[in-house]
Amino acid sequence: MSTFDETLHPRGQAGNPGQFKAKENDAPAADLENPRADLDAANQAYWDNGDRLIEEVSDYFLHGMPHGAHRVEFEESDQGDYVYVARAFTEDGAPIDTEEDFDRWADVDEIVQLLGHPDDNRTTFRDLFESEDGRVFTWTRTEPTDDATEEAIRGRIDRLAEERRGLKVDSQTGAITAVRNLIPDGATVTFGWSDQGDFLCVEKVTLADGTEIENDWDSDSDIAFDDLDMAASDIRDAGDEQLTEVPGSRGNRYTLTKVATGTACPTDAAGRVDADGFCTSHGNDCADFALAQRN
Ligand SMILES: [Zn+2]
Repeated sequence: MSTFDETLHPRGQAGNPGQFKAKENDAPAADLENPRADLDAANQAYWDNGDRLIEEVSDYFLHGMPHGAHRVEFEESDQGDYVYVARAFTEDGAPIDTEEDFDRWADVDEIVQLLGHPDDNRTTFRDLFESEDGRVFTWTRTEPTDDATEEAIRGRIDRLAEERRGLKVDSQTGAITAVRNLIPDGATVTFGWSDQGDFLCVEKVTLADGTEIENDWDSDSDIAFDDLDMAASDIRDAGDEQLTEVPGSRGNRYTLTKVATGTACPTDAAGRVDADGFCTSHGNDCADFALAQRN
């Protein structure tokens, strides 16, 4: 009864070093020199949101589970990245037909999905469930369900989940800003997809004079490829308007060009490219800069 909602599953597969993993923040004083400042701040906000979500989800399991449910078994989804309601039982051990009260149980699915995969959140899973084989996770009731409390928790979870979607966008915006900060004016980064296709990787940087620098381990260029790759791993939505699909690549390659800060807007003498790569007159709607970035 569970449908996969990508926005609820920002983590990548095992071995993906990307989004939200490296919990490192420079002191605020260093922000001016930290090309990742926006990204780090966005990711910190994302983690904080995640901590609050987990608290609410834990509370939901205490006070918000459907009336009559005494024991619920959760299992891994087909994609293996979250768990869902597999079976539910009354106090007498009789099976509950979860299809009968579909909406209520769909809520439980939606909420347990916020915990992600058991490996992502082992402590919480251990606190909430019993599991002998690491495949089936069993919740057993300890407190009575309170309808008013359940409603309040649901409301807070919905708000946090919505905020989370916005924070994810902020993270990607921060990642793109970090990429811009890490390359010289006029340079273009070409991205491809990671092995699992869930975040971008840097293939090469093309300098303003046309020199191409491949992303090699032994590259002795001044391009900080490690930092660039780290930032790129937080770019997951290639539909971002700041990215341009390489023609003929069938969605496999994207570029991002850093138009020099201060470059004049072609259609408004007062417009200049700001530090984020946008036109001060037309923002990110400046068609001419969009064209300029596609050079
Ligand atoms: Zn403009």
